Amino acid sequence: MFDTLSDRLGGVFDKLKGRGALREQDVRDAMREVRIALLEADVALPVARRFIDAVTEKAVGQDVLRSVTPGQQVIKIVHDELVETLGGAETEGLNLDAKPPVVIMMVGLQGSGKTTTTAKLAKLIRERHGKKALMASLDVNRPAAQEQLAVLGGQVDVATLPIIKGQQPVDIARRAMEAARLQNFDVLLLDTAGRLHVDDALMAEMKAVAGVSAPNEVLLVVDSLTGQDAVNVAQSFSGEVPLTGVVLTRMDGDARGGAALSMRAVTGKPIKFAGTGEKLDAIEVFRPGSVADRILG
Ligand code: GDP
Repeated sequence: MFDTLSDRLGGVFDKLKGRGALREQDVRDAMREVRIALLEADVALPVARRFIDAVTEKAVGQDVLRSVTPGQQVIKIVHDELVETLGGAETEGLNLDAKPPVVIMMVGLQGSGKTTTTAKLAKLIRERHGKKALMASLDVNRPAAQEQLAVLGGQVDVATLPIIKGQQPVDIARRAMEAARLQNFDVLLLDTAGRLHVDDALMAEMKAVAGVSAPNEVLLVVDSLTGQDAVNVAQSFSGEVPLTGVVLTRMDGDARGGAALSMRAVTGKPIKFAGTGEKLDAIEVFRPGSVADRILG
């Protein structure tokens, strides 16, 4: 995760750390290299630009340059700005405090990891929050999508809504709400249908499902490996459905990190979780502070 970016930044900062005194020009030179590293990591251009401007403004001040350890100070400023870019101090996780059943609607494109993530979250809700969850697949497009969720439910020991063939997404959502209420489930996870691309039919379906289920969380699942495309997908979705957060999957394979670094600034939505593998416990609460620590090694 972030290996390439981490290596590049490590190289830049090793040079700064080794020096007792820094001139403004040294900081500017280092920031030029940081900018290149960010762009190579596929960070959106305006985000990289804003990042460099913010760090430079803070770092060229006399307090920093005249301090005993100017290199360390600059690195601290970069760290703090990384935290800010990744979402700041907010590590919200899931909002499960509302009146039960708390509805979590999962949205995203086909292949993003949506169904796997639904099961991962259900497991986490059962194990870490001690809550009783029900999962329902509303994906009537992809053959066997509903069965896939049922199999995953068996693996994580979380109930799934019985499948009724031919029922349409909005009706399944209604039936799931009813079942969750009657059987006293704390949380209902709705795994909606994916598509290959964002299109009008998909958005209309998302809105209709949100209309009948009044979700407390609408989580968009995107593949971090798709870089800036992941951010574009998030922008398209957030214009249509009221997203409460993003789950970035395949972070285990993402050496660059552009999606993670651009997501918050471009979409205004927090990254709430990171998928870190195919196993059903491979999910982490996304904490900007620890991610920044990891990037800076
Ligand atoms: P969906 O079409 O969006 O529902 O996607 P699936 O949940 O079926 O996932 C597609 C593939 O991605 C499966 O093989 C998953 O095991 C895999 N996958 C999902 N999340 C992750 C992740 O965080 N890391 C890795 N390495 N693989 C993942």
